[in-house]
Amino acid sequence: MSLRIAFLGLGHMGRPMALNLLKAGHQVTGYDPVDAVRAAVAKEGIDAKPSIAAAVDEAQVVISMLPTGAHAREAYLGADGVCVNAPAGGLLIDCSTIDVDSARAIEREVTGRGFAMVDAPVSGGTGGATAGTLTFMVGGADDAFARADPVLQAMGKTIVHTGGPGTGQAAKICNNMVLGISMIAVSEAFALADKLGLERQALFDVASKSSGQCWSLTTYCPVPGPVPTSPANRDYAAGFTAAMMLKDLRLSQSAAQAAGAATPLGAAAAALYTLFVNEGQKDTDFSGIFKMIAGE
Ligand code: NAD
Repeated sequence: MSLRIAFLGLGHMGRPMALNLLKAGHQVTGYDPVDAVRAAVAKEGIDAKPSIAAAVDEAQVVISMLPTGAHAREAYLGADGVCVNAPAGGLLIDCSTIDVDSARAIEREVTGRGFAMVDAPVSGGTGGATAGTLTFMVGGADDAFARADPVLQAMGKTIVHTGGPGTGQAAKICNNMVLGISMIAVSEAFALADKLGLERQALFDVASKSSGQCWSLTTYCPVPGPVPTSPANRDYAAGFTAAMMLKDLRLSQSAAQAAGAATPLGAAAAALYTLFVNEGQKDTDFSGIFKMIAGE
């Protein structure tokens, strides 16, 4: 069924996700505050509008892919935001990675005003967004999930209902804590291999088939060569920036503190990514932390 969908936030992830909705036969309007972004997506068939109000005016579904919880609160609840401009009864899907508290606060407010909402952060990176193979972790009421599921199918391969509102974000920050820690672990292993005279390709050939196997190694390998599509092969052009990884690690650290969970490796990963970002690498792909660890 073709739906009128408004897509807010057309950056690294949002643009390819919106294009997949278009490919699936939906009518897609879009909004991003950056003029050049709107001009670029307009050339690709997205009806780019100059404001959130104009983008959501007739939308049956609103999807957002924004940087942080503050952006999401403003976009949904602000004076010029979704809540006051979208037709009542619509389905709202926030795919951004944001803090659990903001996700729950937005859901509470919009459902009180007659919308259905899910938090549906993703895993799979820009490659998954382009290929339409993202994993969605979806928090929300059963009926909201049932409405969101067919829409998300156009952008992803694995759609998991994680529970009530905010649990999608909880799943996401737990997953990304593993990702940040594992990227550092894989980087340390390659840096050690270099010092021991072990060829990078040889380490890859062994670890990718052994118990060291993980996504940071086999899909997003932080050294050039073994995985030709990984950002290391294009001088760590993002991809997923170090700033975004640090944001997610901080989200898991503040959630862990609030919940009284012990996450010592998560804390170390947050500290290392803080160092990397403070070296002026915020826009570098997060796998570039290999350069800092190896002293390159
Ligand atoms: P990005 O910075 O490339 O894109 C975000 C876009 O949102 C920008 O173009 C920005 O101009 C726009 N924006 C800001 N305020 C807005 C508003 N009020 N209305 C509409 N648009 C607005 O970031 P990204 O890499 O696409 O990441 C977006 C979200 O997805 C983040 O929460 C990130 O943590 C998450 N994420 C990213 C990846 C990845 O690999 N890049 C993977 C999984 C999840």
